[in-house]
Amino acid sequence: MAGKIIGWAAGALLAMLAQSVGARTLIHAGHLIDGVSDKSRSTITIVIDGERITGIEDGFLKPDEGDTLIDLSTQTVLPGLMDMHTHLDHQNNSRSYLERFTLNGADYALMAAHYAKVTLYAGFTTVRDLGGRYNAAIALRKAIERGEATGPRIFSAGKSIATTGGHGDPTNNWAEILGGDPGPTDGVVDGPAEASQAVRQRYKDGADLIKITATGGILSPAASGQNPQFQQEELNALIATARDYGFHVAAHAHGAEGMKRAIRAGVRSIEHGTFMDDETMALMKKHGTYFVPTISAGKFVAEKAAEPGYFPEIVRAKAAAIGPIAQTTFASAYEKGVTIAFGTDSGVGPHGSNAKEFVYMVEGGMPAMEAIMSATSVAAGLLEQTDNLGSIRPGRYADIIAVIEDPLKEISALQEVSFVMKGGVVVKDEIHRGKQ
Ligand SMILES: [Zn+2]
Repeated sequence: MAGKIIGWAAGALLAMLAQSVGARTLIHAGHLIDGVSDKSRSTITIVIDGERITGIEDGFLKPDEGDTLIDLSTQTVLPGLMDMHTHLDHQNNSRSYLERFTLNGADYALMAAHYAKVTLYAGFTTVRDLGGRYNAAIALRKAIERGEATGPRIFSAGKSIATTGGHGDPTNNWAEILGGDPGPTDGVVDGPAEASQAVRQRYKDGADLIKITATGGILSPAASGQNPQFQQEELNALIATARDYGFHVAAHAHGAEGMKRAIRAGVRSIEHGTFMDDETMALMKKHGTYFVPTISAGKFVAEKAAEPGYFPEIVRAKAAAIGPIAQTTFASAYEKGVTIAFGTDSGVGPHGSNAKEFVYMVEGGMPAMEAIMSATSVAAGLLEQTDNLGSIRPGRYADIIAVIEDPLKEISALQEVSFVMKGGVVVKDEIHRGKQ
């Protein structure tokens, strides 16, 4: 009897040891694009322990007992993709302007949970969510961290910050009786003190960064799509406060004057950047400002502007004038050497089509490998997360995807992601488990 118990205990101990020592996951990668190197490598084993990558080995390593082997030997394997501009809590449609009056916070939260899953399944394991309603993306980030929802790693700005009547004023063009007088909590500020207050409110709300609308925009029902909407002192106060809380600031901007003020004040990224001139580009290079081009959104609104009744007229005219310029601006910024991080503005266009942006970037003159880096190591640099994200290197989270065709030969291959792992956990595997 005693011998039996000792035997059983030894067996349990061995099983525990096997789990802690040998319980690795090995991925056999046919081709590996690691997010940092400028060339892909072939026949590589990625070693994963828990949620992180622990080794990259040449050849297909034999698994030890207890190891899990994932065979991607016919695939191209890449780091999980990173979209630096999404709005997970909504998706634009012809009823969007009415929905502001009919939807509640819970509606937005549930939409966010759905679109997060769609985004992750499209191969995007990290997003920077740049402004939404009711702080739905912050709640979702927490739910994903607790394992109660499925989605990418989220870096959320909470509600964006605008000035009165500015692009991110949620009550633009509403009847007075409905609109009230939104303030810093709602992301509407006037003067340096309120700008600082709004940043502190976002800290309280649990945001990860700050989003401002530095100029007019397309989808808000207001006259100009590009006028500067913050004064320099307001931007300076806002960004100084953001620094106190470890936040970086992303600035929506179409017009050059608003961009220049934002860059001088120290924003980390310019979003859209449509009417960026040479002087702006030089200023961005000088300050190390990232450019997040969102060509997808430009294409989407230009297309919808041609559809009668889709947008209110005040929006349609701006969409038709500004939308088509996005790709041309991208091309000249790339040529001038501005640092470009991948971003789609998904939520304007449909979620899950994020990888279409790669096609637009390559069309605009960026080589495929650089476009991939813009959504991996460069995006991780924007987030100051290169030790954790954006590359398949030892120490990083095992956020890994695979595609069947070689994206260096055909960039649209990234629109057909067959395998997704996030933090060492397989979330999608069409090769071994069939279409998901
Ligand atoms: Zn946006």
